[in-house]
Amino acid sequence: MLTTVDEVAVPHDVWVDPRVVVADSTIAGRGLFFSRDIAGGTVVLRLGGRVLSSAQLAAEIDDADRDPGAPYVDTITVHPGRHLVLPAGTTAHFGNHSCDPTLWHVGPYEIATRRAVHAGEEATIDYGTQSGAPGFTMRCRCGADACRGEITSDDWRRRELQARYRGHWVPALELRIRSGDVDG
Ligand SMILES: [Zn+2]
Repeated sequence: MLTTVDEVAVPHDVWVDPRVVVADSTIAGRGLFFSRDIAGGTVVLRLGGRVLSSAQLAAEIDDADRDPGAPYVDTITVHPGRHLVLPAGTTAHFGNHSCDPTLWHVGPYEIATRRAVHAGEEATIDYGTQSGAPGFTMRCRCGADACRGEITSDDWRRRELQARYRGHWVPALELRIRSGDVDG
């Protein structure tokens, strides 16, 4: 089933290519790994779930913070003021951040290999390309040469990242970049 938001159909569920599996990660806890060699540009993840307004999302995160038993709210900002909340407990939850990722967005929900990948490599994405909600920060020890040390919801303002990920941001951030809302 699909829900239409801003002319874009939102899948209700998360789809993960069966060649992407969960295993222990040196980046953090568990992560996603390729179990086979896969060509660059292959869609291996399709996100889905519920789309909420900023106010609705803030209320859900508030509720989750008050309930120690509540699952972590996995969310990305798809369109301006529109946040995708993934169903709890999907495989996509284990996707780790890397500052030199093997995956990137090719659509609001579609995530593809950024280059040809080998069996055993970790499937990672740059959270900076997905996080537009103000105030997000995360320490990073991904080990990449280009590691930024800290990931924030303002990383889209960095010109070197704008160039590296051109066309591979969630639409909310792509729009901000194109509108020239950047600092030097
Ligand atoms: Zn890093």
